[in-house]
Amino acid sequence: MIKSEVAWMNGKLVPFGQANVHVITHTLHYGLAAFEGIRCYKRADGRSAIFRLREHIERLLESAKIATMDCTYTREQLENACVETMKANKLEEAYLRPLIYLGAGMLGLGATANPVETAIVAFPWAPLLGEEGIKHGIRAHISTYVRGHLNHTMSKGKISGQYVNSVLAKREANRLGYEEGIMLDAQGRVAEGTGENIFIVYRGRIYTPPLEMPILNGITRDAVLVLARQAKMEIVEQPFTRDMLYVASEVFMTGTASEVTPVREVDARPIGDGKPGPITRKLQQMFYAAARGPGEEHPEWLHWL
Ligand code: PMP
Repeated sequence: MIKSEVAWMNGKLVPFGQANVHVITHTLHYGLAAFEGIRCYKRADGRSAIFRLREHIERLLESAKIATMDCTYTREQLENACVETMKANKLEEAYLRPLIYLGAGMLGLGATANPVETAIVAFPWAPLLGEEGIKHGIRAHISTYVRGHLNHTMSKGKISGQYVNSVLAKREANRLGYEEGIMLDAQGRVAEGTGENIFIVYRGRIYTPPLEMPILNGITRDAVLVLARQAKMEIVEQPFTRDMLYVASEVFMTGTASEVTPVREVDARPIGDGKPGPITRKLQQMFYAAARGPGEEHPEWLHWL
């Protein structure tokens, strides 16, 4: 069970144990909600900064808009609420989870009169795919679940109900003994992980699926692309097939929860020599330097507590 002291609910701080919803909460039944996952890092100089808070809150409000929910809070108010939640919990480093959901009222599908509620929780969370995974790489497989049509999933919104697809894929992967599932789209092209974007290195170039595919516009994906360009690496945003994973010299995944995680094996086939490769290592190191310091090469990515 997640441990936290205080949650932010509709503008007020409440004890964590009282941050509850009614069983007829519309979102609980049908999954219409927008959410974010955000990390705050304690940096090398001892100060804490939320990584790319502005972009996360912008995406949250866009997801709510895509999900036809009018959030009553502005970007600035939600940014301040994240900072307030961190401080109220006396956290220096944490994962933040804002959620905009459709509250209790009617249970008809439309439920246009139900209140739109907003909540934020914060709690410590280690890298999703494990410290070992970050260091040595994870084992992944091609999921039997498929990312849906663009107009079915509306993948640019981080909308709760869409995550049934990811939850099923994650449970399948874990049950089969893999750390992660890699999802293909309906045409069989590589899309993303259950909660991560994916990159491969092939003949010295970095490839990642383009945003017109059914994938989330990941904020870590964007950070890694900025850092890779900065390091003069060659990047190609273009669709690629499953077999490209098998012949890639490196594969890695990016996400707020999983950060930059190397993949050392796909479908029981070793990637490269089965160890994280030099490009993955370099981008990992640049990512952690940006998030944790030392140095502030990207001050625009830091929202100080
Ligand atoms: N794809 C999916 C499906 C995700 O859930 C996430 C996590 N938010 C990502 C990609 C990575 O996005 P980000 O880097 O913004 O966390």
